[in-house]
Amino acid sequence: MVKELLKGGVKLYLCEACGFAYKEKKWAQKCQEWCQQQHSCNLEIIQHAVPLE
Ligand SMILES: [Zn+2]
Repeated sequence: MVKELLKGGVKLYLCEACGFAYKEKKWAQKCQEWCQQQHSCNLEIIQHAVPLE
């Protein structure tokens, strides 16, 4: 399960494996699946991530 997070009124979805946040749940899910299986980051996926400050 990806983690949901509210930041400035915007809902973000967090990959629990690597900590990247996404506006779309599908990307967070893809990221988490990838991270758990490959133990690395997929650039095609993380380019959709939004920075957390
Ligand atoms: Zn990830």
